[in-house]
Amino acid sequence: MTMTMTMRRMRRKTSWKTMRIHKLRCILCRLSQSIPMEGDKKFHVVVVGAGFGGLTFCKNFQMDDARITLVDRTNHHLFQPLLYQVATCGLSAPDIAQPIRSILSEREDITVLLDNVTGFDLAQKKVLLDKSSLDFDFLVLATGGQTSYFGHPEWERFAPGLKSLTDALRIRSHVLFAFEKAENEADTSEHDKLMTIVVVGGGPTGVELAGSFAELTRSVLSHDFRRIDPTQARIVLIEGGPRILSHLPPDLSASAQRQLEALGVQVRTATSVKNIRDGEVELAGGEIIHAGNILWAAGVSATPLSKKLGVELDRAGRVKVNPDLSVPGHPEIFAIGDLALVLEKDGKPVPGVSPAAMQMGKHVGKIIENEIRFKAKPIARPVFKYWDKGTMATIGRSAAVAQVGRFEFSGLLAWLAWLFIHLIFLVGFRNRTSVLFQWAYSYFSYKRSARIITHQPADETDMDAT
Ligand SMILES: Cc1cc2nc3c(=O)[nH]c(=O)nc-3n(C[C@H](O)[C@H](O)[C@H](O)COP(=O)(O)OP(=O)(O)OC[C@H]3O[C@@H](n4cnc5c(N)ncnc54)[C@H](O)[C@@H]3O)c2cc1C
Repeated sequence: MTMTMTMRRMRRKTSWKTMRIHKLRCILCRLSQSIPMEGDKKFHVVVVGAGFGGLTFCKNFQMDDARITLVDRTNHHLFQPLLYQVATCGLSAPDIAQPIRSILSEREDITVLLDNVTGFDLAQKKVLLDKSSLDFDFLVLATGGQTSYFGHPEWERFAPGLKSLTDALRIRSHVLFAFEKAENEADTSEHDKLMTIVVVGGGPTGVELAGSFAELTRSVLSHDFRRIDPTQARIVLIEGGPRILSHLPPDLSASAQRQLEALGVQVRTATSVKNIRDGEVELAGGEIIHAGNILWAAGVSATPLSKKLGVELDRAGRVKVNPDLSVPGHPEIFAIGDLALVLEKDGKPVPGVSPAAMQMGKHVGKIIENEIRFKAKPIARPVFKYWDKGTMATIGRSAAVAQVGRFEFSGLLAWLAWLFIHLIFLVGFRNRTSVLFQWAYSYFSYKRSARIITHQPADETDMDAT
């Protein structure tokens, strides 16, 4: 009896011991992946930013001799081209974002860190984080861009931009809140103001926001209110240049304007904004538009991290990279995507779009791979060449304009092309075909959960985000 008990106790002790050893091994194994150890011969590649550029790099670069640390200040990869859908109640936040960890969960060679990169010690080859630092052999900077107010940062308070999920949820809440207030407002001028949405900037984001808000008010919210008529909401799109979507040929710009006007959007081209105050947009000619909802879609600049590199930047803060995408004077550091100014043969800058960022991510991956593989006798680095696959912008849920090479499309055909490309894109990034059905359901049903107010505009309190 005592013998059996002693044996049981011994067995229990041994299993605890084995478990502890196993745990210790796991911890050591994890540590060895994240902190460079003496004798660790692996090249350490630090990637900053898990957007289109950084994530594409990570997905394409894999070598036995290298390990990657991917740092991002958010925990998700964001499909920015569909942000306007979240802002306009078409999709929920999870429809367009996915945890970075889950995207890369099968890659043992990649450590994901949720942290904010604050600067660099380039001489020591270190990336500075909020409270620690990372040594690197190669550094890939892909921190993207941010909304720019052309020297008027004070406008941000009254005219939010669209760059992150938080921005999209705030805009959505703000507009929904304004309609809720209008339903309970007796004063007609205040009521009209609450039901006016002004979008500043006639680029793709401005056009998509204006078109989607028109559709939301005309065909979705119209059934939900009793005292106000959401179909009477005034939506104004303001563009400083002579035409909207100026990167497209003039006939496509004109078609986009016609399609927006058919949805009830007032398009005002060659109209500059002089000032923006709380609930007011003052135009250069002196006219004042009273609007409860003012959105800024007019400018982007690179994230301020570029300034910490001490190299030449353009007016938008983008790093003027070498033709191979390396940072001048630092062959082991690369800047890609919206952070980089890359000039094509004809001197035009590569556009700040996701395919460009992805192509840059792949290009840098190949360079680093060659450099590690042929370290004894390095081969010449290839020059980055952008492959322009076309450009498009949607106007509501059944119209768009698109240019692919010499071909131009508009209306339903362009929209179907847009839908097809975005679905392929989304599935590719999430590695799951089930996403297709989930996304298609959300998109076509204008699901009600996307009409929940998640931020209280009065005190900017974050509520439960969906
Ligand atoms: C509203 C909107 C609509 C768009 N529509 C289209 C479209 O229809 N088609 C198209 O091709 N392109 C579109 N774009 C542009 C496209 O999204 C960008 O060109 C693309 O995302 C650039 O990729 P990137 O990797 O350079 O940066 P991003 O994708 O912006 O990723 C940057 C990452 O870096 C992280 N980061 C930034 N600073 C730090 C820091 N200091 N520390 C740690 N992490 C940091 C961010 O959290 C982010 O995850 C749109 C952009 C916006 C904002």
